[in-house]
Amino acid sequence: MSSLGLSSLAFPAFSPPAEKPVVISTWDSGMEVNAEAWKILSTNGTALDAVEAGARYIETLNDCCVGLKGYPDRDGIVTLDACIMDQHSNCGAVAGLEKIKHAISVARKVMQSTPHVLLVGAGAQQFAVENGFPLESGELSEDAKRAYATWLKSSRYEPVINIENKKQNGPFAPSFFEDGALNHDTMGLIALDSSNNLSGGVTTSGMAFKLHGRVGDSPVIGAGLFVDNEVGAATSSGLGEEVIRICGTHLVVEFMRQGNSPEMACKKAIQRIVSRDRQKAKTLQVGFLAINKKGQVGAYAIQEGFVYSIKNGTQNEVVKAKFLI
Ligand code: ASP
Repeated sequence: MSSLGLSSLAFPAFSPPAEKPVVISTWDSGMEVNAEAWKILSTNGTALDAVEAGARYIETLNDCCVGLKGYPDRDGIVTLDACIMDQHSNCGAVAGLEKIKHAISVARKVMQSTPHVLLVGAGAQQFAVENGFPLESGELSEDAKRAYATWLKSSRYEPVINIENKKQNGPFAPSFFEDGALNHDTMGLIALDSSNNLSGGVTTSGMAFKLHGRVGDSPVIGAGLFVDNEVGAATSSGLGEEVIRICGTHLVVEFMRQGNSPEMACKKAIQRIVSRDRQKAKTLQVGFLAINKKGQVGAYAIQEGFVYSIKNGTQNEVVKAKFLI
């Protein structure tokens, strides 16, 4: 989805321990997102401001799977999910948000101005408008119109997520995948700032052509994102239902608390998904990305294809995650 071609980037076999401050984010599009976050981190800004800035940046791009230019649900409506969490375990989230550009900032507003964690649908939109977020038109981007028209030809509904390294036949017309298009590409990012504080944010339009009202893992604290400032933080991408079933990112952080490295913690969470149903796991993708308080970073996915981006004082690159199957 990114303007940065994967093939033009170097993939180191392993990632050395990160320095602080550092920002990590899902996918190769994370390179651009990290650059935005870095403007704040490199001038002693907070991790919270950095993750919000990175997420806001990608929310304005023409992207299959983030922001109002993302692909719609099966009824042709773009609905956004986002969450944010800081070093004090404060968190806020929105789900099924329509016609508001910066879901991540609405999530932050929920965190900072309400006693709640999660607002959904019409209530989330009402809250956003009352707090000064402009109501946008809701018209699909040209890209999204094309992808939706292709999907409508078969329009079989089944929550299958594309696996980056495979051509798939599934609920989406095969040509959808043959075009190299994606149906998921959530942006999850985590920063560790120069004051040694962690924060994370996630923003997405969710799985393309989802059932209207479906909410994935992305806005669910403990599933799409979890931050524990004493231990570390984690985020996820892939088939959200599988992540929710195991409280994925909370599990990753708990594995780090037990002394596992970020990579091993992600691997164990992936194993948990795969061990539930290995056959099913072969047909889907989930990737976890984690950082601990030392600034060490790791990731793991079910299948080949999950990549993440890292930026600190010396590193600025895309890294391939290891995979189980
Ligand atoms: N996890 C997202 C969802 O299930 C999609 C993705 O991240 O790839 O909506």
